[in-house]
Amino acid sequence: MDRVTHVTHSDNAAFSAPVSQTLFDRAALVTPGGVNSPVRAFGAVGGTPRFMASGTGPYLTDADGREYVDLVCSWGPMILGHAHPAVTEAIQAAVARGTSFGTPTAGEVELAEEIVARIPPVEQVRLVSSGTEATMSAIRLARGFTGRGKVVKFAGCYHGHVDALLAAAGSGVATFALPDTPGVTGAQAGDTLVLPYNDLDAVRAAFAHHPDQIACVITEAAPGNMGVVPPAPGFNAGLKELCAEHGALYVSDEVMTGFRVGRQGWFGIDGVVPDLMTFGKVMGGGFPAAAFGGRADVMAQLAPAGPVYQAGTLSGNPVAVAAGLAQLRLLDDAAYGTLDAVSRQLQELVTEALAKEGVPHRVQTAGSMFSVFFTTTPELPVADYADARAQDTHRFTAFFHAMLERGVYLPPSAFEAWFVSTAHDERAVQRIADALPGAARAAAEAGR
Ligand code: PLP
Repeated sequence: MDRVTHVTHSDNAAFSAPVSQTLFDRAALVTPGGVNSPVRAFGAVGGTPRFMASGTGPYLTDADGREYVDLVCSWGPMILGHAHPAVTEAIQAAVARGTSFGTPTAGEVELAEEIVARIPPVEQVRLVSSGTEATMSAIRLARGFTGRGKVVKFAGCYHGHVDALLAAAGSGVATFALPDTPGVTGAQAGDTLVLPYNDLDAVRAAFAHHPDQIACVITEAAPGNMGVVPPAPGFNAGLKELCAEHGALYVSDEVMTGFRVGRQGWFGIDGVVPDLMTFGKVMGGGFPAAAFGGRADVMAQLAPAGPVYQAGTLSGNPVAVAAGLAQLRLLDDAAYGTLDAVSRQLQELVTEALAKEGVPHRVQTAGSMFSVFFTTTPELPVADYADARAQDTHRFTAFFHAMLERGVYLPPSAFEAWFVSTAHDERAVQRIADALPGAARAAAEAGR
């Protein structure tokens, strides 16, 4: 996620990571902003982005040789930790067999079968290479299936950098969205209706204002891209009901939550049956693999079975598929129990440290995903993007850098989920616990 506000950070981070700084300077000459995905540039928190050299278990080692406990986990995929032996072995075996054939392979069938077996609403699935591609293709399919043009999305939900979905700002009910970025035309964003999250009345009004025009409602199953803002009880069920009533498809984006918050992702938690679902991150085992799937009658519209075109040279890549399969096969109930326990432990430690320093905050969770909002009204839920944006990001910046200096790598933005892995053992948790008091003090001193 890349909604970054640029700040000037006045610490000596540049000096404490000289090799990273040199790499960043070199990178900036040949790559816009020095990175291949904007949030990596530390724009929201300032300082020198750490160039990582290696990872093992819950740890990352940067180019300067410093080790960090990793609470980003590659933004979700590394759910078993880095360089897990079984996943690495599967990858090495796949590489040795050849890296891409441009033909169907057995591994693709096995991965598709694994997804279909885990998640009953997915009757058929198509493999792609990124979450962006998955949501883009799902939207196209929803439009092709319904013969309608408009798409409803929610402010603060991120679905990748799909033109039509890069519209987050809208005010009032059913406002036609303005593109969020140059390069997306009014026409591309003009069929997107951006509504406030957790507001079923706004969705009702949108359907009333645009009868027979809305192809689908797309939502993060449990949003993690404005910080963690879980759906209010009944919200997803209400979306599904409204979609069914008005002949639109309910598209649940589980790129982040899928295979992370449980064997069946968020579907396993709320049980609401989507028409289409999107996946990525965990299912690729650290490689570019993603998917969209759902109702067989909808998926049947996809080429070559049907008329809606979608394709990819590297779709179902054998190495990516082997990595994803190896990872999924290790994700049993015990693994999810471990993730939940580690996550709860960390939430308690963070709360304890911040409370001790009198720092107002609120921890919000969606399964084992969580984030910390430095909000001045911690008794109130952060229920939508407007609430999320009201947090005190200065406190987060101070907290982030204090953790980094103490060897804990947090997402470099207040608007991101924190991720744990099954490799986060007692030693890793203890290192986080040791870092927290100093970081809480830094947050207390930062204020507004
Ligand atoms: N959907 C959600 C919910 C995401 O969190 C992301 C990425 O963070 C995407 C889609 C896009 O995935 P990718 O970055 O693989 O294109």
